[in-house]
Amino acid sequence: MGAGHDGKMMDFAGELHEELSGIRRDLHQHPELLYDVFRTSKLVTDLLESWGIEVRRNVGRHFGMGVVGTLHGTAGSGPTLLLRADMDALPIREENDVSYRSKHEGVMHACGHDAHTAMLLGAARTLAHYRHRVRGTIRFVFQPAEEGALPSPLDGRLLSGGRDMIEDGVLEHADQCYAHHGCRSCLSVRLACIPVMPWRHQAILEYISMESRGITVPLIWLRMPSKWQPGT
Ligand SMILES: [Zn+2]
Repeated sequence: MGAGHDGKMMDFAGELHEELSGIRRDLHQHPELLYDVFRTSKLVTDLLESWGIEVRRNVGRHFGMGVVGTLHGTAGSGPTLLLRADMDALPIREENDVSYRSKHEGVMHACGHDAHTAMLLGAARTLAHYRHRVRGTIRFVFQPAEEGALPSPLDGRLLSGGRDMIEDGVLEHADQCYAHHGCRSCLSVRLACIPVMPWRHQAILEYISMESRGITVPLIWLRMPSKWQPGT
């Protein structure tokens, strides 16, 4: 991307607010568990394709529920950046009394993956619109089963969605990978994450705060060099 602040791009992203809010609420109403993200992955696929982004669906050798969008910048060659969001919800009964309350009794987007998916779609939409300013490639990864793992139908191993996609080559040729997670309490997420962080893979946690309409939203970014290999 070009250096410096791009007011026009930020304006464009800002204008997506209503659309993205609608997508997030739609996802919130239709939460899906683990690998059963049929509706969510179809919605993601349809939107990415409508914005002219190349889509690979059914990613994951074992469960095949991941979606990967690839955007080739037209400003020249450059690195491949991977941006990742999770799509699955939790087996929790929603008690919120909101117009977009979960329609699936006992299932809820209680961890914010509806927002993560909508946010990554917003980034994809914006970057696709500005692809003439992008050098290199951007890979948008939408992952199922972040909240747990299931035994593989192929070999019986317990597999989460991230590993299923990685074993299907989603990290190949990526120069840098970024994932984010909104949180109410960065401390609690940090404590939850520390025991499972792959320190030896030099993952880096970054904390940023975004302020929107008077609400401060802490976000955690996990940055990981692509040298990470499954099974190491
Ligand atoms: Zn989560």
